[in-house]
Amino acid sequence: MSASTCDLAECGVESRVHPCSLCSDLETELFCSAECLHRHKTAQHAHQYFSHVISRMTSLAAKLALEAAAANYKYRLLAAEVLEDTRYLVFAPLEQPRNECKLFPGSQTIADGDKRAATLWETCIACVHHTARPLVWLAEDFDVSICELSILGPKPAVPIQAWLMWSVSAPSVEVRNSDTHRVICIAPGALPLEDIANDPASIILDPSHHQYGFASHHSATTSYIQANTKSSAKIEALQLGDSIDFMMNITQNPEAIVIARAFAHGHLLAGMRIENTVFDMIKNEGGRRWLLEMADDDYTLVENRIVQAVAAGLGKLRTNLDEVIFHSESADDLQARMNSLYAESECEGWQAMGASYERYLRRS
Ligand SMILES: [Zn+2]
Ligand SMILES: [Zn+2]
Repeated sequence: MSASTCDLAECGVESRVHPCSLCSDLETELFCSAECLHRHKTAQHAHQYFSHVISRMTSLAAKLALEAAAANYKYRLLAAEVLEDTRYLVFAPLEQPRNECKLFPGSQTIADGDKRAATLWETCIACVHHTARPLVWLAEDFDVSICELSILGPKPAVPIQAWLMWSVSAPSVEVRNSDTHRVICIAPGALPLEDIANDPASIILDPSHHQYGFASHHSATTSYIQANTKSSAKIEALQLGDSIDFMMNITQNPEAIVIARAFAHGHLLAGMRIENTVFDMIKNEGGRRWLLEMADDDYTLVENRIVQAVAAGLGKLRTNLDEVIFHSESADDLQARMNSLYAESECEGWQAMGASYERYLRRS
């Protein structure tokens, strides 16, 4: 079969009903199956096709990361305000299960942008972790390279000054924003790790971009670096999955405080639940190709449905986590309760995305 048309002798299918949305003449370019259409687009419209599928994948990934950060939120936001180009946030630690207290007690006066910035504050590694394996699974039929970038020296559009109020009587303490940021970089083709961000067609997915007031979750790498990093910034490419190891190390570090270990478990479990829900929904509705090929309006509806289903699942996870965090009697008890949450999460989606991820790491 040629790369640009279907051939009855080769495809064996007479009805050609799949138009190519990237060909100028929709009537003459019809394909027998999603498979043939994919081959055609890969051969004939490589650059445009890459941009199209990657923008869908990053859109979904950024929304999933926001839900996961919200589900693992470990503070209450008492107040927020932007004054003279700085965003001031006042947090209190969460001392009760979240369904017994308001996360945004001053919600009447807190703007949505401040809530998003507060929700994603200091969550960049967790957000990269939540999106890495779903991205690899979604992109498996495409020839792409994906890595993590550690950026020493991000340049926030709106810098944050955050204060933590331990109690009403104690003075609040300033908590410093880390000066290292973590994002995902994706480029077409099979590239060595160190070349991915240098590819002129590469893009950055910054799922926690709201914390710095960056305009978008998705940008070309060169414009992202120019607009959002200091001139002295140091950028290091890391193997995809470094963020997962980072979270695992916290859960296994006996010196980490119990609450820090508990929330690291929460992030790992949220990742597993996201993988299960995303996999089940896409598989039951028509598969990865179907998700990436459908018309834009339909895609928006499907993406909303996926995000809502993930949010509902993560809400239940949070109730389970609160039960563990607030009712464990010892570190061993906490670990035993977490283990049973892990066992419940080892479903088909988590296994399929794990297999995709292993194939990605072994390729080349
Ligand atoms: Zn065909
Ligand atoms: Zn075409």
